[in-house]
Amino acid sequence: MSVKGLWGAGVRAVGKTGSPGTGMAGDYGLAFVNPFAPRRASISDERREALRAAVRAHGDCDGATITLSELACRDQGCAEVETVILITEAKRQSRALRLHKRLSEVTETCIREAIDAGGLRTLE
Ligand SMILES: [Zn+2]
Repeated sequence: MSVKGLWGAGVRAVGKTGSPGTGMAGDYGLAFVNPFAPRRASISDERREALRAAVRAHGDCDGATITLSELACRDQGCAEVETVILITEAKRQSRALRLHKRLSEVTETCIREAIDAGGLRTLE
């Protein structure tokens, strides 16, 4: 098992061409890449719409606004991220589905299974 690539990925040295035009004396010569910053959820609009369609098909929520967010897991001591799917409707209380995985890992199947398992919770 290789750990190659796990280390040294955070802060990248920049060559002499880095930061042109800043004119700042004492340029650190480093790019500020925060390794702890949450990565932007990078799924296509098509995937996003397909996941919304899966929520609509199984969540009894035609016409609802469905918001897909990737957030830091709120469980104490957990460093993972979770995907929170929020269903907002004019005529009833908002509901949320938590999936303990990245948005890019969420599939139509796991949405259906989570809803079938009673994962949709009404927000107080
Ligand atoms: Zn967690």
